Amino acid sequence: MDNRFASRVAADIMKIVPYRPGKPIEELKREKGLSRVVKLASNENPLGPSPAAVKALKEEGERLNRYPDGYGYELKRALSELWRVPPEELALGNGSSEIIEMMVRLFVRPGTTVVLACPSFSIYAIAVTAQGGRVVDVPLTGHGVDLPAVAGAVDENTSLVILGNPNNPTGTAFGRAPWEKFLSAIPSDTPVLLDEAYAEYADGPDSFDGRDYISDTRPLVAARTFSKAYGLALLRLGYAVAPAEIVDYMNRLRLPFNANGAAQAAALAAVADRNHLERVVGANREGRERLQTFFAASGVEFIPSQANFVATRVGDGDRFFNLMLDEGVIVRSISGFAMPEWIRVSIGTPGEMEIFEAAFLKVQKLMGAK
Ligand SMILES: *Cc1c(COP(=O)(O)O)cnc(C)c1O
Repeated sequence: MDNRFASRVAADIMKIVPYRPGKPIEELKREKGLSRVVKLASNENPLGPSPAAVKALKEEGERLNRYPDGYGYELKRALSELWRVPPEELALGNGSSEIIEMMVRLFVRPGTTVVLACPSFSIYAIAVTAQGGRVVDVPLTGHGVDLPAVAGAVDENTSLVILGNPNNPTGTAFGRAPWEKFLSAIPSDTPVLLDEAYAEYADGPDSFDGRDYISDTRPLVAARTFSKAYGLALLRLGYAVAPAEIVDYMNRLRLPFNANGAAQAAALAAVADRNHLERVVGANREGRERLQTFFAASGVEFIPSQANFVATRVGDGDRFFNLMLDEGVIVRSISGFAMPEWIRVSIGTPGEMEIFEAAFLKVQKLMGAK
């Protein structure tokens, strides 16, 4: 492809390597002529959403000609009751990816720095680079976010800190005590985004909810998504719990109707179905336990996870990923996340995990043979 128009495009945009989503199932079937493919690459919910959400979505089909509620009144009211936060402290996004992007556009000015843990979700750095910000990567310690080092990297030029908890792609989570220490160690006016895409799955003894720390006095925002534990990734919906002042700023910046009506309706039903969420989280806990036991028995290193995926060290991650594709199993190579020796495996149904395990052992042998 010619870069014919590149000189017309902001230099910062030219630096970006596009986000690579997990390989779609249909694509692999086409490429390899396979009839059965298991996808464990995008941390999707293998049980799907609450049946009530599917029903609500169908009913929305009668209203395709109408614009959605641009402020998400009903959904915000439900979330407000559930989490006991005022509706003014809630903002909806086209996936939590949009919450991340809005935070970057709000706070990051060209030449300022954004402190990230490395590796973490690649969308953070993409959004920062597009905005002309500079990423300061703070390496993980023992595969977990090094909060004291992150605090140490914050200075006058820091416009934002973004932390995933649990962190993607490692699945590690930090607890309440180090988090509170972190908050007291950085200036109280430093904007912080806590990305809690996997928080529903975290069950560590010291785990906490970012929303409990939201107050008018500091620019701290917690982002949540309906894409993971709620099983609504197709619909694109996330939300932020944020000081009312920051919600106001997001309302100035966002596109009208950024949270689509189908997603709002399905999410409203999904939020009400706490039993389904409990089943999802319980099944994930069992699947995660099973996968970690399998990795331990297979003699490979893995990172104990608080999320719905587990990272494991396989040698050449890209090669392992490609050999798994031959077996009809899509995992995630995380070489792009600066972990070239690792792959990331999402927790699937027991049937899917059985197929994964057989493929894993086969590929492990192939890799050993070189
Ligand atoms: C999956 C994921 C999200 C959620 O993305 P959506 O845009 O809400 O689908 C956010 N952050 C991290 C770290 C993720 O892995």
